Amino acid sequence: MGEMTEEQRATIWERLRVRHSELLQMIRAGTADASRDNMQRMGGEVGDPGDESIALQLADLNLAEMENELREARAIERAFGRFKERSYGYCSECGGEIPYARLDAYPTAERCTPCQTRHERVYGGRDGGRDTTPSV
Ligand SMILES: [Zn+2]
Repeated sequence: MGEMTEEQRATIWERLRVRHSELLQMIRAGTADASRDNMQRMGGEVGDPGDESIALQLADLNLAEMENELREARAIERAFGRFKERSYGYCSECGGEIPYARLDAYPTAERCTPCQTRHERVYGGRDGGRDTTPSV
C-alpha cells in the first residue's frame, strides 16, 4: 500500500535528472570562476597579506558553496543507483516504504522520517545522507 506508481517514479527521476545537470553546470561554472579569479590574482600585483587573506576567505566561501552542490549531486547519483536497483523509495535502514509525500519534498531521501531523525540524532545531523533541499 502506498507504493509509488510508475508515473510518480518517472516524475521524480526526471526532477532528479534535471537537478543533477543543473548542479553539474553550477559546479563547472564555480570551478571556472575560481580558477579565473586565481589567474587574475596571480597576474595582479603581489598584494599585501591583507589582500591575500580576503582572497582566501572568498575561496573558502566558494568552496563551501561548491561542497554543498557536490554533496547534493552525489546524493542524486546515489538516488540514481537506487532507481537502478529498484530500491528507490525504500528506507535504507528499516526497509520500509518512504511515503511519496516525503520523496516528493526530498527526492534524495534515503530513509523514512523516523529513521532519518534517529540517524541525525546519532550522527549529529549533516552529512551521511542528510536530505538536500528540494529544487524549487
Ligand atoms: Zn526507516
